[in-house]
Amino acid sequence: MKYLKKYKIPFSGLTAGKHNFEFEIDDKFFDCFEHSLVKKGNLLAKVSLQKQENMLVVNFDINGYIQLSCDVCLSDFNSSTHFQERIIVKFVNEEWDEETEEVIVLSKTDYELDIATLLYEYINVQVPIYAKCSEQGSGIGCDPEMLSHISIEESTSTEEERIDPRWDALKNIKNN
Ligand SMILES: [Zn+2]
Repeated sequence: MKYLKKYKIPFSGLTAGKHNFEFEIDDKFFDCFEHSLVKKGNLLAKVSLQKQENMLVVNFDINGYIQLSCDVCLSDFNSSTHFQERIIVKFVNEEWDEETEEVIVLSKTDYELDIATLLYEYINVQVPIYAKCSEQGSGIGCDPEMLSHISIEESTSTEEERIDPRWDALKNIKNN
């Protein structure tokens, strides 16, 4: 997970006010998360951090593309993605676990904000339940060659189903 070390914002030395950061997110980033729905992509996260006395307000503007698999023709395609997120970081003296989706709690002794997991979650939430490459703009359609392969596979599976009763018969013989 060495790669994720760069997705940290050392805020302790910052003056009060607004500070801007940029983080590139690439395939290697997604490699660090075993269960990531997104395996490939290229995005730029522009992070604006507003430092206040007991709080950080962090705004994210994430723009780029992620690679999705089309649920119709199974081809991989790049899906343009642009969205904003915001998180508030509060500092407390003791352990306090009232974290919510919008509020992160850090100790007063913390000096940096790790945004790797946040970025990972934000991006994975963008993955649609049903992805279709033909919805990516005009002139883009499902791969006809892939589609023809799929229809062949489908007819093969129906053939297997027809053979099924025979297998059942064999199973019965074994059990006897
Ligand atoms: Zn498609």
